[in-house]
Amino acid sequence: MNVKQQLLSLKAYSPGRTIEEVKKQYGLEKIIKLASNENPFGCSPKVAEALAALSSQFALYPDGAATVLRQKVAEHVGAEQNQLLFGSGLDEVIQIISRALLDETTNVVMASPTFSQYRHHAVIENAQIREVPLRDGVHDLEAMLGQVDENTRIVWICNPNNPTGTYVNEAEIVSFLERVPKTALVIMDEAYYEYATAADYPNTLALLPRYENLMVLRTFSKAYGIAALRMGYAVGHADLIQKIEVTRLPFNTSTVAQAAAIAALDDKEFLEYCVKVNEEGRQQYYEFCEAHDIPYYPSQGNFVFMEIGKTGDDVFQYLMQRGFIVRSGAGLGLGRGVRVTVGKREDNEQLTQLLLSFLNNSREETRS
Ligand SMILES: *Cc1c(COP(=O)(O)O)cnc(C)c1O
Repeated sequence: MNVKQQLLSLKAYSPGRTIEEVKKQYGLEKIIKLASNENPFGCSPKVAEALAALSSQFALYPDGAATVLRQKVAEHVGAEQNQLLFGSGLDEVIQIISRALLDETTNVVMASPTFSQYRHHAVIENAQIREVPLRDGVHDLEAMLGQVDENTRIVWICNPNNPTGTYVNEAEIVSFLERVPKTALVIMDEAYYEYATAADYPNTLALLPRYENLMVLRTFSKAYGIAALRMGYAVGHADLIQKIEVTRLPFNTSTVAQAAAIAALDDKEFLEYCVKVNEEGRQQYYEFCEAHDIPYYPSQGNFVFMEIGKTGDDVFQYLMQRGFIVRSGAGLGLGRGVRVTVGKREDNEQLTQLLLSFLNNSREETRS
């Protein structure tokens, strides 16, 4: 049986090995997973409270319009309710938008490396892909602009960029939006928005009314800590959002995810705590890198990419055998180095100790 030709060049997403598998393989008791930028503190205790009350509703379909969550999020972002599109994580939002906008006559412009799903769905929709290499780890907006033409439907800007953690600032985005043709939708993927602390990190929601071709993506998977439940959303112009909505499945976000997101949004204290500890954790990693001459990208997310090791896979293996799962740069398109999620203080500390012993080992090897 044949599938669409373009699928043959892709692989189904492989999440890597599970904690249980790694434990068994290396005979480890405890594994710290710092591989997928999940919140090391879990989620607000209010989420579990909200979910406990739900079990009587499991037989019923969810509210396909996510009415209550929609009201909450509209208020939260300062937009109208009809400007929102909800998905089962941003992964699904990216799929929904790609399905609605792309076909073989169109092209998409994105950075490289960046979040893998933009490319994945462009391939499935048979769109042409124009990848623009990062410059010093940062989106090269000028070069990206040069790739936009009348057939460009989407420009993906991952801000901060996954896997580098780097960001483009307000002035750079505004300058880009002023010049890019209105026929290209500029999508700012702000999956790590809550963690961004730079004073010039763009306030894209405030820019939205000025640019009809701007859209902003946010998720509950990272700082809000409910990745398991799947909830993300787009904020855009109402007319475009309504057109795209047609490709959304009727009950794409569950009752459980909607209730959890509402509760998570209500607990501002938990979020503030996580953001503060994350900033300290980033600093912890920077100090380690600087003390040992390891190049790294300053990050606005909850992860830091460090250029360490010969291949990326070597550091990854070394850490995994010792109970830490991170992401190898090799699999992220960055080659040498690893992307490490900012964890709890004591976990970051242990991880940097292991990295130090890795460095000492490899320095001894080069000497002998
Ligand atoms: C994690 C991540 C996503 C996907 O998040 P979900 O909402 O869990 O699907 C999207 N974009 C970027 C840049 C991410 O890092």
